[in-house]
Amino acid sequence: MHCRLCSQKSVYKELCKEHFVAYVEKKVEKTIKKFGLFDKKDKIVVAASGGKDSLSLLFILSRLGYSIHALAVDEGIPKYRDDSLSTLKRFCKKNNVDLKVVSFKENIGKPLVEIVKMGERPCTVCGVFRRYLLNMHSKGYDVLATGHNMDDEAQAVIMNLLKNNLSQFTRQGPCSGSRKMKNFTPRVKPLYFCLEKEMMVYSFLNGLTDEFNECPFVSGSFRLKVRDYLNELEDRYPGTKESIVNWYLKQKKINVDAADSRICRVCGENSAKDMCNACVYMRKICS
Ligand code: SF4
Ligand SMILES: [Zn+2]
Ligand SMILES: [Zn+2]
Repeated sequence: MHCRLCSQKSVYKELCKEHFVAYVEKKVEKTIKKFGLFDKKDKIVVAASGGKDSLSLLFILSRLGYSIHALAVDEGIPKYRDDSLSTLKRFCKKNNVDLKVVSFKENIGKPLVEIVKMGERPCTVCGVFRRYLLNMHSKGYDVLATGHNMDDEAQAVIMNLLKNNLSQFTRQGPCSGSRKMKNFTPRVKPLYFCLEKEMMVYSFLNGLTDEFNECPFVSGSFRLKVRDYLNELEDRYPGTKESIVNWYLKQKKINVDAADSRICRVCGENSAKDMCNACVYMRKICS
């Protein structure tokens, strides 16, 4: 089959390599502009894992001429994270991107694999500490850009609905937090309207990664169940994921700044409660 815009062979969505790459990059730039995520003067740090989404995000932002740095969290998941961090280091060296790696072991006292042995649920504790470290080490930047794509967002909307998690629900969207907040670097998601499959094809076409490994802890997670269910729906009813995120954006009327404006009494970081989740877990695992 040929590309719908030229005579080249199509690779995905009836587009050739060149037109597909341009289609993704245009979509990302449109999201950045439409939601005012950042501009060329801003200092941007990208939360990078070495997976296809964060590598693609780093690649696209540098191609679009933004000033970027990379920040990676080493949770301490043997093999899986070691491999992805090696890929990330190679990418950053090749593309002249400044990279900082911070680890659970150094900052929390234990790698994730040890914390899990204490009976904690891997994805819950991993998410809490990762967000905590990303926030802590992104101070001084205007925004923290993450590689969340449309699949991630649609899954999060459904998960928060099913768990009646309103405080997390209000923090979703292409941008959360505000530049006026002292203890919180605003989070932005330039890949918000890019499907997981599109990012897979984009990263493959640009030679960013050809391995799509999964974390060994993902198998029992609630997210995995929601992901499979949404993939099934998307296959049967194309456009489902886009409808979910567009529905979410229409509903988002709650003031996020007010929800985020409290301070943890232990560490002084931004928190929705009196004590942040990171401090709650830190006490549990270090006692
Ligand atoms: S699957 Fe769970 S444990 Fe693994 S990196 Fe993701 S959040 Fe962390
Ligand atoms: Zn073409
Ligand atoms: Zn705290």
